Amino acid sequence: MRKKLVVGVIALIVASASFLYYQKETLAYNVIINGEVVTQVKDLRAWEQALTGYKAEVAEQINGAVRERDEIVLEKTRVRPEMLAKDLGQVIQEEVALTTDAPSLFVDGDRRLSVLSAEDLEAMLEEYKERYTRGIDPAARIQSVKFRQQVEVKTSRVEVDSILTGEQARDALFKLEEEELQVQVQPGDYLGKIARDHNATLQDILDLNPLIDAERIKPGDMIVVRRGKPLLDVVVTVTNTVLEQIPYETEYRKDAGLMSRDRQVLRQGVNGERKVTYRVTLVNGYQQSMETVSEEVVKEPVTRVLQVGTRKTLSRGVNRNYGVVQGTRVSSGFGWRTHPIFGTRKFHAGIDIAAPTGNGVYAYTSGVVSFAGQSGGYGNLIIIDHGGGMETRYAHLSKFYVSTGQKVSAGTKIGAVGSTGDATGPHLHFEVRKGGEPQNPWDYI
Ligand SMILES: [Zn+2]
Repeated sequence: MRKKLVVGVIALIVASASFLYYQKETLAYNVIINGEVVTQVKDLRAWEQALTGYKAEVAEQINGAVRERDEIVLEKTRVRPEMLAKDLGQVIQEEVALTTDAPSLFVDGDRRLSVLSAEDLEAMLEEYKERYTRGIDPAARIQSVKFRQQVEVKTSRVEVDSILTGEQARDALFKLEEEELQVQVQPGDYLGKIARDHNATLQDILDLNPLIDAERIKPGDMIVVRRGKPLLDVVVTVTNTVLEQIPYETEYRKDAGLMSRDRQVLRQGVNGERKVTYRVTLVNGYQQSMETVSEEVVKEPVTRVLQVGTRKTLSRGVNRNYGVVQGTRVSSGFGWRTHPIFGTRKFHAGIDIAAPTGNGVYAYTSGVVSFAGQSGGYGNLIIIDHGGGMETRYAHLSKFYVSTGQKVSAGTKIGAVGSTGDATGPHLHFEVRKGGEPQNPWDYI
């Protein structure tokens, strides 16, 4: 009996509470964006007005027409008054995404950023390209400056919130997607070693560091081992015409009466001159390729005529004979060379004679091997002391046939051509020094 009463009382309380609660609810609208109720509003017109006002304000700010990104549905409902949105403006700002047509940068078809002004974006792209034409010899002719990627500025519909200010767009455009990596040269380092340590080839390192002199790096120098990865790659094609020296050749007249080390100059050699036009392709400021477009001899060189003894001949084989190696061509001459595009000067202390790996390398003349071993960028190096302050150096060897302290005579096979140390291909780097100073090897071989 008592139990029934309790149940009855509870039922009555629940019923009255529900009634009171229902009385407190009011007619309202659910605001549904993308199928989700984001708020509830009392007045349909107030909502419309607030939304129109907000759109007008944004449209004025960006000076362009805007519209809602998503469909907004308003649906009748009942809601307790305290649930109603209090600040319609704030709700709209937080929940309604607006879109507009904005100038956008497309890279290979993908939109990368949007701004308010197409002119600003175009100007930024020009500035971006111009960075890579600085430092080029003013005498050189810039043939083209292009982006490697397909770059387009076109209007696309984007969210207003994603539009960048000029400064933000500049940061996004100029920012590297991956930073450049530099290392400091340590004692005992040479480029070939640095390349190996960073899984790069020597040619990669040379390309990354167009201004350094491979044969003269010293501890403390900074070497770029990985280039930064930018959003856009700039390809610059440049041509330049420069005057270059044509080293004179030497004609040997044999004289059986003379010893091989005796020589007499019958006619002095005179270097010639040629006008060479190079075409260089740079990618992000790094040299990608260099080719000779045309070559015109301005002044023919005068061949030096040398009388040489044959009582111990230096002649070996049928290819061109450079006295110390049987090579195919001189790949790099002695002395200063000016880079045709960057205008930088590098000193080459010897001559490079391209030759197949394994070809014999012969002592220039008699002397004592003062060094036979590894030496940084020289790779496997032999130094022969000829006395009187004169020495010859043979670098990048693949094999040693002599050792330090050994006496050699003119023409002794001392080693084999290779590409050890800083060499991009097999060649003999040959140097002549007097009192430590590099001499022009052509005056000796
Ligand atoms: Zn060399």
